[in-house]
Amino acid sequence: MNNKELYTGFKNMESQTKLMLTRFSELREAMNEVLEKNSELEIENQHLRELLESRSKEDHNPKTQPQKTQKHSESRKTLEKLFNAGFHVCNQFYGKPRENGEGCMFCDEIINRK
Ligand SMILES: [Zn+2]
Repeated sequence: MNNKELYTGFKNMESQTKLMLTRFSELREAMNEVLEKNSELEIENQHLRELLESRSKEDHNPKTQPQKTQKHSESRKTLEKLFNAGFHVCNQFYGKPRENGEGCMFCDEIINRK
């Protein structure tokens, strides 16, 4: 292998490595999007389940209206569960994973809101 071939070989490898790095970060971004979407759907699913449950309770006892405060605390419980599972529940970072279980004052505010 002469010097020119060696140089071209390195050049090619360099551009292939760069391409691979780009692909890699694209993949990671896509994966993060999927994870975020997944936790959003999880929250939505939980909310819909709770709604369904409270609806069917109403159907059985049409006279007893669910208390507003009870509904409030139930959805807060859901948020708290998600927060404990390692996700942000605040408007700022909603559905994003909390790195290394870090705390978040926005999440705290929502979970502890009266
Ligand atoms: Zn947060």
